[in-house]
Amino acid sequence: ARAFAGRRYAVLGLARSGLATCEALIASGAGVTAWDERKAARDAAMALGTDIGNPLEIDLVGFAGVVVSPGVPLNRHPIADHAREAGVSILGDIELFAEAAADLPPHRIVGITGTNGKSTVTALVTHMLESAGVPALMGGNIGLPILARDPLPENGVYVLELSSYQIDLAHSLACDVAVLTNISPDHLDRYDGFAGYAASKERLFALQHRDQVAIVAVDDDPSRMIAGRINHRLHRVSAKDIDPAGQARWPALQGPHNAQNAVCAIAACRVLGLNDEQIERGLVSYRALPHRMELVGEVAGVRWFNDSKATNAASAAPALAAFPPAPDQRVHWIAGGQAKGDGLTACRPWFGHVKRAYLIGEAMEPFAAEIGDALPVERSGDLAAAVAAAAAAATPGDIVLLSPACASFDQFTDYERRGDRFRELVQALGNG
Ligand code: ADP
Repeated sequence: ARAFAGRRYAVLGLARSGLATCEALIASGAGVTAWDERKAARDAAMALGTDIGNPLEIDLVGFAGVVVSPGVPLNRHPIADHAREAGVSILGDIELFAEAAADLPPHRIVGITGTNGKSTVTALVTHMLESAGVPALMGGNIGLPILARDPLPENGVYVLELSSYQIDLAHSLACDVAVLTNISPDHLDRYDGFAGYAASKERLFALQHRDQVAIVAVDDDPSRMIAGRINHRLHRVSAKDIDPAGQARWPALQGPHNAQNAVCAIAACRVLGLNDEQIERGLVSYRALPHRMELVGEVAGVRWFNDSKATNAASAAPALAAFPPAPDQRVHWIAGGQAKGDGLTACRPWFGHVKRAYLIGEAMEPFAAEIGDALPVERSGDLAAAVAAAAAAATPGDIVLLSPACASFDQFTDYERRGDRFRELVQALGNG
C-alpha cells in the first residue's frame, strides 16, 4: 500500500502487531519512530529500518499519527494528552489497514465485537466462507497481525475480531458487515464505567456507511438499546432463533452461548451471499478454538475441559451451564486469577451444577467470600494444586473445568499460557 508514503508515524509498543506495523509502514515508504520499554523490542524495530525514540519525549508536530498497541491504557497513559497537544491522532493497526484498504483488490470487511464470543464468531465466519470457497482471512484480535498478511485475491473477505480498544483506535473503519454479539460488564478499569465501554462498541456501527449492514444479537439490554439507535440496515438476531435440533448437529458449537455465536455468524454469512447449504456445511465442520471449552483429556473416566479464555464471569457462566448435573456427572470447577469488576454474579445461577470449586490466584479470597456456603470451596492457590486436588476428588463421569472467570496476569503471561499449563498438567496425570 502506498497510502502512507512520505508520512512519518510514531509507533508505541513493539510486540507482534507493533513490529508488523513498523514493517508495513516502512515497506510503503513511510518513516517510523518506534518505541518500547524493552530494549530487545527496540532492536528488532531498528533492524526493520525504524528510528528509535520515545514519543513522549519528542515533538510530535508534523507526525501523521501515533500508532499504539491496544494494550496501552489510553485513559491513563500520558501519550493521549501529548498527542492531542500536538494535534496528532492516536490510532491502531486496524485503522492503518482501513486506510490502506482502498489500494486492495475489491474485497469486503466484516468487523465483529462484543464482550464474549468474538473469537468464536470470527473463526466461524472465516471457516464458513473458506469452506464455501470464498477467500477469507481473519485478523484483529485473533491470528497474525493484519498488516503482516498478504492481501486476499479479488472478492475476498477480511474478518476482523475487534476489541473495544481496537475500535477506539479506528477512525475510518467502515465495515461492510458489523456484528455485535453481546455486552456485559468487562474492562471497566479502562473506561469511565459501563456506559463508556458500551459506547465504544457502538462506535463500530457509527463508522459504517448507510448501505452497510449491522447485525446485533439482542439478547441483552445494552445490545437491544444499541440496536434501537441504528439508522442503517440492521438485522436483529437472537440465540432463541436457533432450533436446538439443528444445533445438535454442530459438535463444536454446543450450549446457549454458541447458539448466540452461531446466529451472528449465520446472519453475517447470509449477507455475504452464502446459501443455506453452504452455511450448514460450515457449521457442521467447524472445530473449536483452543482454550474455549477445549477437551484436553479424559483420565479415569473424568473429562477435563480447558476454558481458560473465560476471563470474566459472563463467559464462565455458559461453561458451567453446559454441564447440567446427572447422577454421575458433576463439575469440579477451577476458578480465580486476577478478578475483573463483575465478581461471580453471572455464574451463581449455575452453582447447582458444581460439586466443588478450586480457587486460585488473587481472586481466591474474594471468590471464597462471595461463594460463602453456596458451594464447597477449596483454597488451592495455584493451578497445579487445583489440578491435583480435583484429580483426587473427581469420580468417573465427572467433569473438571478450568473456566476461571478472571484474567490470568497475576500468575501467567496470558490466558493462552494458563490454558497450555492446564493441558500439560492434565496430560501428566494421564501419563502418571
Ligand atoms: P472473545 O473472543 O469475545 O473473548 P470467545 O469466543 O473466545 O470470545 O469466548 C470466550 C469465552 O466466552 C469462552 O470461555 C466461552 O465459553 C465464552 N463465550 C463464548 N461465546 C459466548 C457468548 N456468546 N456469550 C457468553 N459467553 C460466551
